[in-house]
Amino acid sequence: MRAQPTASHFIDGQYVEDTAGAPIECVYAATGEVIARLHEATPALVDRALASAARAQKEWAALRPVERARVLHKAAEIIRSRNRELSELETLDTGKPLQETLVADASSGADALEYFAGFAPTVTGQTVPVGGGDFVYTIREALGVCVGIGAWNYPTQIACWKAAPALAFGNAMVFKPSEVTPLCALKVAEIFIEAGAPAGLFNVVQGRGAVGASLVTDPRVAKVSLTGSVPTGRKVYAAAAEGIRHVTMELGGKSPLVVFDDASLEDAIGAAMLGNFYSTGQICSNGTRVFVQKGLKERFLARLKERAEAIVIGEPLDEATQMGPMVTEDQLSKVLSYIEKGKAEGARLITGGARLDRAGNYLQPTVFADVTDDMVIAREEIFGPVMAILDFDTEEEVIARANGTDFGLAAGVFTADMARGHRVAAAFEAGTCWINAYNLTPVEAPFGGSKLSGVGRENGHAALEHYTQIKSVYVGMNPVDAPY
Ligand code: NAD
Repeated sequence: MRAQPTASHFIDGQYVEDTAGAPIECVYAATGEVIARLHEATPALVDRALASAARAQKEWAALRPVERARVLHKAAEIIRSRNRELSELETLDTGKPLQETLVADASSGADALEYFAGFAPTVTGQTVPVGGGDFVYTIREALGVCVGIGAWNYPTQIACWKAAPALAFGNAMVFKPSEVTPLCALKVAEIFIEAGAPAGLFNVVQGRGAVGASLVTDPRVAKVSLTGSVPTGRKVYAAAAEGIRHVTMELGGKSPLVVFDDASLEDAIGAAMLGNFYSTGQICSNGTRVFVQKGLKERFLARLKERAEAIVIGEPLDEATQMGPMVTEDQLSKVLSYIEKGKAEGARLITGGARLDRAGNYLQPTVFADVTDDMVIAREEIFGPVMAILDFDTEEEVIARANGTDFGLAAGVFTADMARGHRVAAAFEAGTCWINAYNLTPVEAPFGGSKLSGVGRENGHAALEHYTQIKSVYVGMNPVDAPY
């Protein structure tokens, strides 16, 4: 099998297998071929992973921040030097085209490691005068053992975006990848060891939801960071609340992309395509409700159809391929059922809409126009290459409609009028907004959702709040004034 790892799990610095765990088959989405066979972690392995993380964390947190940073920098360097190999594995794991994975996955993981390696040594406390010569100083402490749980769309990036701030600030992590894409996080774990991290600092255990749930409720765990859907988020958030654990929830979305008449047509279409077809549409922050002002609408549709039909679909390992298959047969069926709903509800199919007549989970990039706010395809997260175009007249109207969703992950606006761009961005109810751009998520900027799309932020300075806690130390400089 062409992507069989050394073993299913990476615990306490080494690959570990236990065939007593339920099997997990890893299937290449482009062919249906089984490329690896793994096993879920048994409770004993979960326990070993948590115990080793708890032990490593104490040793790691006691290091100087620059010493921790050195390990993260080294890990980033190794990732960059092995980019092609890691990108090919990402492609096999997910079905995303190599053209994308070569620039978007391992490299963005390395960015996160470099960013937080640079950030950690700059973190200091405060001294707070409280009168009479007394003072308080604050210490930023690591939380302890953090659990990361990943979705299947960006297995390398998700592992690194969670590990980088966690480790930089002195925490350890047990990471559970999605059972759909179990392979990439193992490489990240291997690379941390090669970079000099202590055994147990970053462990990977495989499994489905139940393994994730057993991690979330373990008393040794201080924090849980989940990337996944809203229904899973509800369960994990509630389970973490039992133990009053810290959480970061990176959940789903149904984000608006608003295009005004004065926007650059080519730029707005390019962004709408990136925000719906990149990674075969399997991106949480995608702008899946594209609101186009009526004056531009028909020109927008005509040119979009032309550009969408020119997308090169094919074998993901071929670097000329621009769009690969959906991650699984199940995901493809789910998306096809949404396409049927769109047709049944009277949306106008501009292009696509069908499965490709070849092996693998291939779907044509699909565009619906004349979509209305109440249609299912405008309300629910589809998580596939399906763009819904809605039209509008006024700014006031489109802001109200763009915000008319329980999700709040992202939003974008295209306009030549920058005052309007800022006004609309200010009015969006979303955690991450773009003006004349879409889906760019540099590690320097905080990323995350509002409303049902999540709590907490990844990346940027904001991540410090989510992987540390503040201790206040009051220093008495005066005699104790007791009334007894
Ligand atoms: P999912 O919710 O089905 O699964 C996510 C992870 O949670 C998996 O590892 C799964 O095994 C685990 N899990 C499931 N039940 C659990 C439980 N009860 N306790 C603990 N863990 C449990 O999501 P998915 O299908 O893998 O990914 C797609 C979803 O992820 C979409 O909704 C997408 O929008 C979202 N997503 C969000 C972001 C973001 O940053 N906001 C990024 C990528 C994907």
